[in-house]
Amino acid sequence: MRAFINTIRRRRKVLVADDEFINRELLRTILEAEYEVVCAENGKEALDLLSEGETDFSLVLLDLLMPVMDGFEVIRRCRESETLHMVPIIVMTSEKSAEVKSIRMGAADFITKPYDMPDVILARCERVIELSEDQSLIRETETDKLTGLYTQKYFFEYIRRFLTDGEMDAVALDIDRFEMINEVFGKEEGNRLLKATASLISEVLVNSEGIACRREADSFFVYRRRCDDYETLLRLINERLAAQFSGRGIRLRAGVCQRSDSLRAETRFNRAKSACDRIRNTFNVYTAYYSEELYARAKFRERLIGDVQSSLDNGCFKVYYQPKYAILGDEPRLAGAEALVRWIHPELGFVSPGEFIPLFEDNGLICKVDHFVWSEAAAQIRRWRDAFGKSVPVSVNVSRVDVFDPALESTLTSLVKREQLMPGEMRLEITESAYAENGEQLTELIKNLRDKGFKIDMDDFGAGYSSLNMLTRLPVDLLKIDMQFIRHMFRDEKSLRMTALVIELAHTLGMPAVAEGVEDENQLNELKKMGCDLIQGYYFSPPVPAEKMTELIQKDAERR
Ligand code: C2E
Ligand code: CA
Ligand code: CA
Repeated sequence: MRAFINTIRRRRKVLVADDEFINRELLRTILEAEYEVVCAENGKEALDLLSEGETDFSLVLLDLLMPVMDGFEVIRRCRESETLHMVPIIVMTSEKSAEVKSIRMGAADFITKPYDMPDVILARCERVIELSEDQSLIRETETDKLTGLYTQKYFFEYIRRFLTDGEMDAVALDIDRFEMINEVFGKEEGNRLLKATASLISEVLVNSEGIACRREADSFFVYRRRCDDYETLLRLINERLAAQFSGRGIRLRAGVCQRSDSLRAETRFNRAKSACDRIRNTFNVYTAYYSEELYARAKFRERLIGDVQSSLDNGCFKVYYQPKYAILGDEPRLAGAEALVRWIHPELGFVSPGEFIPLFEDNGLICKVDHFVWSEAAAQIRRWRDAFGKSVPVSVNVSRVDVFDPALESTLTSLVKREQLMPGEMRLEITESAYAENGEQLTELIKNLRDKGFKIDMDDFGAGYSSLNMLTRLPVDLLKIDMQFIRHMFRDEKSLRMTALVIELAHTLGMPAVAEGVEDENQLNELKKMGCDLIQGYYFSPPVPAEKMTELIQKDAERR
């Protein structure tokens, strides 16, 4: 272990908090030879940097008189903080009385201004850091009694002290089905398993290349030199475990976080742990790597969720309309539109509904967004009727999640009442897969909505695998053929037949069919031959803002 430690170069971080530029730069010059120096211009900034938790500071050099938050307040808050109370602080001052007060409050030492003796300053810093690190190392109990591995606290102290640099991997390990062993075979057997696992971890994973701790129960952490093939190491451990505990389906899985040099060890292990949790109870996968990409995506999704309300409040959600045309007559005629939400995020710009709709369906936020869309669409339907003297039916999307909202019916009917809409002016698109998920409940709901004058379009038809039997009983007014059929209709003879078949099916059930995603004339002509009633797609128009849609309505009206 010694030899390994000695090869690791360390550079501790020191935080300098002083409101005067010249002082900051002076100290930076003095300290930079030995430490990585980060500067703050006042107490608040210093405290923010310290509590951010992304980096570990080994020492704080603190000016006492600063604007916004003075040094005394910083000392007080650090001492009260669970995570910061161990960070040593050296106070910088020119007043004797302040020195005493700050030492009483818990500062480790003081340096007097002006800074004319760099060697003295460096020596004091070094001594304070060393003292503080020794102290915390001594304070922690070293090893876990059962397994002989380090305790988690000691483990992290040790890393802070000795393993701050170099290409190190954070590995989190967990035993699948450990609770079961404990329950079925007793605690003794559970302990035997923990000991065996710990000793295999030490032998195979750690060897002379790192350290390990027992985090809690059946969870272990290993901090070790960079390795590119954990799969093999884990397979080895699992083979040996299987030999010792045959037939019990025991397995050790690992999550690995590599190379995040500037991050605190704790953060890296959290990431390793989340990777490890991802493969809980999977079959035959022993190792998962934490990926920046996955993490960035998770962060991005969190951000989107966090920004919904303010975006609703600030008008960043807009409703676009995509026209539908009836094609069976001599020339295409505007027959309605679909309302599609658009999110123009103030910082991220345009966010695709394909991205945020599924996300909002997962956490129920979709209901809020849909209410907004329905309300906007209802008002717009009314405005068009008033302006053109005839109605343009608009379909709004009703998410599979909205279906569970007990207030759905009353929300929709009150909108219709508010705008004095006529029956059929507002249509509801419900995806076929929602029927497949809970047909009974939906059938009931839809019956009620139709009684109230709503028309129902079944969206994405053909992709949801409803049974034919169910289809015949569904109270639906129109089938909207899934875009995939149109996209692939010319791929081969069979695809073409399938498309014709779904259109036929709609007609057999006594409903018109809409094809969406129609992009070119070939598709249009073929669909027309098949008897498809309505067309929606880029061929006619992409989804457009209400003003643009108004122009399209105008144009259609002029041709009549
Ligand atoms: P969807 O209901 O099947 O909507 C059709 C999607 O196809 C829309 O994508 C539309 O912009 C796109 N599209 C239209 N014509 C063409 C075409 O010719 N070619 C191609 N490739 N695409 C075309 P969008 O707006 O990105 O919406 C994606 C999905 O998000 C929608 O699929 C719908 O499931 C959901 N969505 C959109 N707006 C809302 C909303 O207000 N509420 C709910 N609950 N879901 C919505
Ligand atoms: Ca739709
Ligand atoms: Ca669709």
